[in-house]
Amino acid sequence: MYDVIVVGGGPVGSYVAYKLAGMGHDVVVLEQKERLGGRVCCAGIISQECVNSFDIDDSVVLRRVSSAKLFSPSGRMLRLWRQETQVCVVDRAAFDMAIANWAQGKGAQYVLNSLVGNIEVGGDGVRVEATRQGEILNFEARAAVIATGFGSRLVGGLGLGKIGDFIMGAQAEVETVGVDEVEVYFGQEVAPDFFAWLVPTSPLKALVGLLSRRSPGLYLRKLISSLLAQGKIVSDEAELSHRGISLKPLARTYGRRLVVVGDAAGQVKPTTGGGIYYGLLCADIAANNLHRALDDDDLSARNLASYEREWKKKLGRELKIGYWVRKFYEHLSDRQVDRAFDIIKSSGIDEALLKADDLSFDWHGEVILRLLGHRVLSKAIKAMKIPFRFGVA
Ligand SMILES: Cc1cc2nc3c(=O)[nH]c(=O)nc-3n(C[C@H](O)[C@H](O)[C@H](O)COP(=O)(O)OP(=O)(O)OC[C@H]3O[C@@H](n4cnc5c(N)ncnc54)[C@H](O)[C@@H]3O)c2cc1C
Repeated sequence: MYDVIVVGGGPVGSYVAYKLAGMGHDVVVLEQKERLGGRVCCAGIISQECVNSFDIDDSVVLRRVSSAKLFSPSGRMLRLWRQETQVCVVDRAAFDMAIANWAQGKGAQYVLNSLVGNIEVGGDGVRVEATRQGEILNFEARAAVIATGFGSRLVGGLGLGKIGDFIMGAQAEVETVGVDEVEVYFGQEVAPDFFAWLVPTSPLKALVGLLSRRSPGLYLRKLISSLLAQGKIVSDEAELSHRGISLKPLARTYGRRLVVVGDAAGQVKPTTGGGIYYGLLCADIAANNLHRALDDDDLSARNLASYEREWKKKLGRELKIGYWVRKFYEHLSDRQVDRAFDIIKSSGIDEALLKADDLSFDWHGEVILRLLGHRVLSKAIKAMKIPFRFGVA
């Protein structure tokens, strides 16, 4: 019997495996893909803070970014720029491989090509059933970690509730001409209720993608045609990939002998849809709590509840404020977004924000609350008569 079965060998599952194996536990990772580090529908943007906190190796960083151009629905532009690197674009395939290598280096075993279809929790352990090329494989462990990413059916069957809200995304790799800054596009015609991006990954290549409440593939095709017409990319023949992102956490992220981590738990920034850093932070918390529970030989739901308390203490407020901002943005018309761009520029809010020491790519809560207290912006919000109330419990 293993100590821990980790279901899902994405960055979050592999990080839990790395930590637990490093603490001396016997860990197996079950992954449905045939090989680690395949193509992932993800822009791979993580903050410098994430790179530093998790010691991410330079070899997986494609690009360091210190500026971005934001385009309003009618084409008004805000350029955000800071001296120092704000975010890094990682090669997601290499990044996933690197963390899996860390885990394997500490002794975690990987069983690939194994789709987990069932998890049964019993008094003395968990039984996990996987299918590998038609063959049924059974695994037993003292506890299981579910790190299956967005939309896994596994979680639903375990009585942990549902993800509160989600959005769909689409992305493609394109060849570019003269694009050397990250570009972000807003507008109902571009990416309804969310935004789109063009992220250069090398001098001639970029990822173009978007998140949207409806038809992301359709809107991405439109965006690719428009970028081609603007001369920013060289061809509109691109292979699209699709994936969802949770915007609200799972109702409960632990149970007897179980924890759920990463996208499967909805540990994602609702403002941007970024889930790598928050997922890794929660993976760290999950591993520490599981380690303690394994050592105490108390894997009851009551004992593992500390995992949820701890990650919510760290991220709960950010997730709530971020979700409120997301819903607020969804109430804005294109005209109102244009107007917000004008106000931000003319009142110098952009300059003030860029100078703020606590401006962070990952922690938006305090800055958002400060912005709402900004006289010009709060007056404008009132003037726009947006039927929305701010409420963060
Ligand atoms: C279009 C798009 C762009 C994004 N861009 C960014 C970005 O720039 N920055 C950022 O931080 N985040 C971004 N994200 C989100 C980011 O990709 C996720 O937050 C991140 O991948 C979460 O990692 P994870 O390990 O929890 O899940 P995943 O990376 O999804 O890994 C889950 C793993 O579990 C495996 N699995 C699933 N079910 C089973 C099963 N039943 N049995 C066995 N294995 C299973 C899967 O094959 C997969 O390998 C983006 C998402 C999308 C859709």
